[in-house]
Amino acid sequence: MNDELERSLLSKYPAIFGEYTGSISRSTYCNVECGDGWHNLLDTLCHDIQAYVDAEHVQQVTFIQVKEKFGQLRIYYNLVDKYVDDLIKEAERQSRSICEYCGNVGSYQKTSSGWIQTVCPDCR
Ligand SMILES: [Zn+2]
Repeated sequence: MNDELERSLLSKYPAIFGEYTGSISRSTYCNVECGDGWHNLLDTLCHDIQAYVDAEHVQQVTFIQVKEKFGQLRIYYNLVDKYVDDLIKEAERQSRSICEYCGNVGSYQKTSSGWIQTVCPDCR
């Protein structure tokens, strides 16, 4: 994900991504290792998670890893919570129909080189 989009997530949801100190460094917070096209999906997901944490006073959810794996979004986080699990699973499911690069409608497919990707016709 490009720096600008990544920074916008990090500064909007500091409790989820870890403390953002102003420089991109792997040690201080969770990096977002996927394409720009999933930015809005992540933004919505983080909003929903933080709203749940704040409303229900459950333990703060923090992401450990956010990445693309086998053509879909994969998120690892710090605790076991059915509601958060469901939110994340739903976002991961939705990522299989959103182009990872531009955010348009994409299809989940195997590329000629054998990788699985979710891309739109323009980005293929
Ligand atoms: Zn695309």
